[in-house]
Amino acid sequence: MDTDFIPLELDDEFQFACSPEVPCFNQCCRDINQYLTPYDIYRLKNRLNMTSGDFLNKHTVEHIGPQTGLPIVSLKALPQEDLRCPFVSEEGCRVYEDRPASCRTYPLARAVSQSRATGQLVENYALMQEPHCKGFSQKRTQTVREWIQDQEIEEYNRFNDMLMAIISLKNQHKRSPLDLREQHLFRLALYDLDAFRMHLENNGIPEGLQLDAAEREALRTDDLALLAFGHRWLQLMLFGRA
Ligand code: SF4
Ligand code: SF4
Repeated sequence: MDTDFIPLELDDEFQFACSPEVPCFNQCCRDINQYLTPYDIYRLKNRLNMTSGDFLNKHTVEHIGPQTGLPIVSLKALPQEDLRCPFVSEEGCRVYEDRPASCRTYPLARAVSQSRATGQLVENYALMQEPHCKGFSQKRTQTVREWIQDQEIEEYNRFNDMLMAIISLKNQHKRSPLDLREQHLFRLALYDLDAFRMHLENNGIPEGLQLDAAEREALRTDDLALLAFGHRWLQLMLFGRA
């Protein structure tokens, strides 16, 4: 049986619960094809107390989107063990508090598009009813809005929307795929935060980006400030927009 996608509004209810009591516990953490966003990488590398470079080398694989040239990062599944996630254990997810956005959002999927009328990002949700998942027969109901709150997804969405804005700019302004230099800049600013910090220390802040002293200091000490700045920096570097 195939997955059913059922569109839902924010205040629509759905029936679902996941816990160690379900018979399929941990099954969805096998045979994974798990994309990571820049914010996912930030959370996981800090959770594991690793540098971004070490985390990317050890736990991820990268491929280049054939049409877009965008570097896409996925978790490196364990090939000897059912392609399972490196973070799953008998007891469940070992990085639960910092698990990626897609793990949190499931069984919902979130799609974001840019309104042609207003230029604003518009979000849509759908329920992914997968036959193997027994969570749909558990007796708990909640609205989409409650799920987002419960799973603490807002901060993930906020940063993922910054990424979407860059992808929208790419689609609007550059029909050809990113070239090797542009791919390097994308990887540096969004995925490899520790290397990006070093790059800024060595090369300075471009003139087109105004920062006061407190904001400059935050880039040295605060990964989140650095990641938000990385999106602005990349827009300037790739599309000439501050
Ligand atoms: S990060 Fe956690 S929840 Fe997500 S696939 Fe891995 S073990 Fe499962
Ligand atoms: S209920 Fe669904 S989400 Fe939970 S472990 Fe089973 S397959 Fe995964």
